[in-house]
Amino acid sequence: MNEDLEALYQDLILDHYKNPRCKGSIENASASVTVDNPICGDKITLSLAGDPTCINQIRFSGKGCAISQASASMMADACQGKSLSEVQSLVDTFVAFMHERAAPDELKAVSSDLVALEGVKKFTARIKCALLSWEALGRCLEQIKSAKN
Ligand code: ZN
Repeated sequence: MNEDLEALYQDLILDHYKNPRCKGSIENASASVTVDNPICGDKITLSLAGDPTCINQIRFSGKGCAISQASASMMADACQGKSLSEVQSLVDTFVAFMHERAAPDELKAVSSDLVALEGVKKFTARIKCALLSWEALGRCLEQIKSAKN
């Protein structure tokens, strides 16, 4: 494995891939979204239970490459028990981080695990893999917001 690929598949990424956190589904979820990335064959269904004050439960299921599944696992882990606005801010920070618009330290302040995905930024085609579950999360947050109004 060359150095770049080693950086891409850090131990932490492989750990989340092999032992995903928050895997499963939620009965009577407040929001649920399925997204896919045909280029890589990744697919993720994300379910949330909660309201704007607190995301009580977050679960994902899916298949695909290590990057897409590990990113979903890290994301779900980082979101539990946070308020909707905190989760929204995490989404914004992570998307900015992947597009070189936020420094690793900004992301580290909210979730240290997620910084492990930094190596993915060098592989343009894989950024979509890392962001797939975040796209689902953004849409789930919209569903919860609109249900409240
Ligand atoms: Zn992928």
